[in-house]
Amino acid sequence: MWPGRSRSSRPSGPTSRATSCAPWTLAGDLGQRVRAGRRAERFRASPDLPSLFRRPWGPGWALVGDAGLVMDPITGQGIGDALRDAELLAEAAAAGLGGRQPLQAALAGYERARDAATLPMYEFTTELASFAPPTAEQQALFGALAGRQAEIDRFLGVLTGTVPLADFQSPRNLLRLLGPRAMTRLALGRLRRPRQGTAAAHPAVAEP
Ligand SMILES: Cc1cc2nc3c(=O)[nH]c(=O)nc-3n(C[C@H](O)[C@H](O)[C@H](O)COP(=O)(O)OP(=O)(O)OC[C@H]3O[C@@H](n4cnc5c(N)ncnc54)[C@H](O)[C@@H]3O)c2cc1C
Repeated sequence: MWPGRSRSSRPSGPTSRATSCAPWTLAGDLGQRVRAGRRAERFRASPDLPSLFRRPWGPGWALVGDAGLVMDPITGQGIGDALRDAELLAEAAAAGLGGRQPLQAALAGYERARDAATLPMYEFTTELASFAPPTAEQQALFGALAGRQAEIDRFLGVLTGTVPLADFQSPRNLLRLLGPRAMTRLALGRLRRPRQGTAAAHPAVAEP
């Protein structure tokens, strides 16, 4: 709730009210309800959540879900990803053990399918979780969403995995949301800016 601020600058103490969070004031009646509340206990935070990919198979073993791939829960993807991995691994194991394909090739296919399915959301998630100041693109997008409830719902659907990220980020959808002038301005801005690498583009690959 206080990204980028030192602990000492955060509200604390038994009398501190939840009103200290400026964003609530922008959230309609949610802000009113939060302001009417009183903090009952200390906030609990989990600031050091890892984000990493592990190689998900080897001789005699395989990993699914968080064991093989952890993402910051700022986007609620982990449960769906774990179920998807279980399904992909079950298919690979059936193909490998049932003689349709060499087992190693089937498991390597599982890894490729998992990575391809997760990487775009992984990059999106690690960028969100960094709480960096919003880019020009993000500012334009959030500005375009303001007051358009159906579009806000779709964006929240991206965060929870019910709307495919690729659909939302498609040039066609962005053009629809932002309009041609803003798209052109952003494209020109991107061309002028030096390209920056992000940590998100290089997921940590840990050994199991
Ligand atoms: C704060 C937070 C909020 C989240 N919010 C969401 C959300 O809104 N939506 C969403 O989709 N995901 C969310 N996630 C992520 C989600 O919880 C995980 O991605 C998901 O639970 C992973 O499922 P899993 O089965 O892979 O692992 P887990 O749920 O961790 O299950 C693994 C189980 O194995 C047990 N275990 C470990 N070692 C052993 C052992 N040696 N022997 C026997 N048992 C063992 C563990 O105790 C655990 O019960 C959130 C995560 C966090 C931390």
